[in-house]
Amino acid sequence: MSKNNAVKIENSELEQTKKRYYRKNTDFAKLIEKIKLWPARSGVLHGVKSVQLKGEIIEITTHCGENFIVRNSRNSRAARWLRNKWCGSACRACKIPDWKIQKYSSTMLSKQWGSTLQ
Ligand SMILES: [Zn+2]
Repeated sequence: MSKNNAVKIENSELEQTKKRYYRKNTDFAKLIEKIKLWPARSGVLHGVKSVQLKGEIIEITTHCGENFIVRNSRNSRAARWLRNKWCGSACRACKIPDWKIQKYSSTMLSKQWGSTLQ
């Protein structure tokens, strides 16, 4: 009985953290520039060193020296991953500080997030 109660609490907490106040029209490149985190296809979160916008293409350099060239699309895999926070782990080589990851998980819940990117 008590076990069931505990599970219920966990679920409700999860529901709360899922709430997002995301601006749909937020530019993806600006978002990356702001968050400074990049979710690689492997599910590893990298620290972003630089973001270069070249027309429709974004060139991302991570702190561990990797380069990613992606389309500046809000509908891309990475954009989706960032929105949904589908990242298993953080890159050790990038040495992402804890506060940055915490900021990433909390700031995105704020309404102010979208407006500062405009
Ligand atoms: Zn890395």
